[in-house]
Amino acid sequence: MSSIFTKIISREIPAHIEYEDENVIVIHDIAPQAKHHLLVIPKQEIESTQALLEGDMDILKPLFLAIQTVTRQLAIQDGYKLHINSGKAGGQEVMHLHIHILSDI
Ligand code: AMP
Repeated sequence: MSSIFTKIISREIPAHIEYEDENVIVIHDIAPQAKHHLLVIPKQEIESTQALLEGDMDILKPLFLAIQTVTRQLAIQDGYKLHINSGKAGGQEVMHLHIHILSDI
């Protein structure tokens, strides 16, 4: 079953895309919890941090490079928080690994 983020990646549903490359898409959160609230999403559909296998760890590097790129793009590179919810009990609603970027700069 594909997640809502997979549907955004395949352009089945629209989103405000801030950055995209072959491995990652970064979108603006539809319900922002800060002045800037973005979601950094690997194109490979992995359910959560807990579902990452050792062989999947290569997907993490492009996520952090994308974080540097978009925070510079939005001029929030001097101050932001990263947040990951993992598992339903951890507040994860979309079961496709993603990192929240939150900034009030
Ligand atoms: P999480 O609770 O960590 O799974 O976060 C999921 C996030 O996805 C929430 O902050 C939602 O507001 C956001 N979200 C859900 N649907 C969309 C969408 N279609 N476009 C952008 N953000 C979304």
